[in-house]
Amino acid sequence: MATVSLRNVKKSFGKTDVIHGINIDIADGEFIVIVGPSGCGKSTLLRMVAGLETVTSGEISIGDRVVNGLEPMERDIAMVFQNYALYPHMSVFENMAYGLKIAGTPKGEITARVEEAAKLLQLEPYLKRRPRELSGGQRQRVAMGRAIVRKPSVFLFDEPLSNLDAKLRVQMRLEIKQLQRRLGVTSLYVTHDQVEAMTMADRMIVMNGGVADQIGKPLEVYGNPQTEFVGGFIGSPP
Ligand code: ADP
Ligand code: MG
Repeated sequence: MATVSLRNVKKSFGKTDVIHGINIDIADGEFIVIVGPSGCGKSTLLRMVAGLETVTSGEISIGDRVVNGLEPMERDIAMVFQNYALYPHMSVFENMAYGLKIAGTPKGEITARVEEAAKLLQLEPYLKRRPRELSGGQRQRVAMGRAIVRKPSVFLFDEPLSNLDAKLRVQMRLEIKQLQRRLGVTSLYVTHDQVEAMTMADRMIVMNGGVADQIGKPLEVYGNPQTEFVGGFIGSPP
């Protein structure tokens, strides 16, 4: 597990400034939710931590390493996306094993890790199925499994539940939160849903136009919004 710190992290695309300077120290095992309206820069911020996007200025550290110059594979992170990005022609087992195979993990170790993750996620009966033979919730669990088997220090989630119906979303957010507590993996979780943020976060970052308007525990943010934007966003119906 690891701490994550962002030091005055900025991002521009050409002449457009998208992230204006974000600072936060995330504790080992903490669950941070980055929340804000569409287009405010949540995904860009997460992608910089993942190494999928370069940092224009500032510094990102994971554990005691500055990771600015490191490739995604070198960062000890695993990312779970909104569209799951599962391989349709591979079984559930193969989908979960794929990243480990690429990394050159020995076969026995791969089998052990996939079986362990499948147990944790209640996917054991489905290991031979293809993604199209699974429900939305099961596909989401496979995407989680693919992240877990890598045994990363940090999980990065980008709106992982937004393709699920409302009922399943509630169930899956509980499952993700329980799993994260159990594994103790430091997590950054992006959503545009303030209810998701309020119920899942240890601390939340409320973003508005590339700026962190407020960082704090959900009840602090709810009870004492620091800007009009935060008050309006958190207080509005989902
Ligand atoms: P969010 O995830 O909060 O919806 P994004 O991080 O995707 O927001 O986008 C933030 C802003 O950056 C948007 O205005 C978006 O159009 C812009 N943006 C994101 N990626 C790129 C890119 N590769 N090139 C140019 N502009 C981008
Ligand atoms: Mg996004």
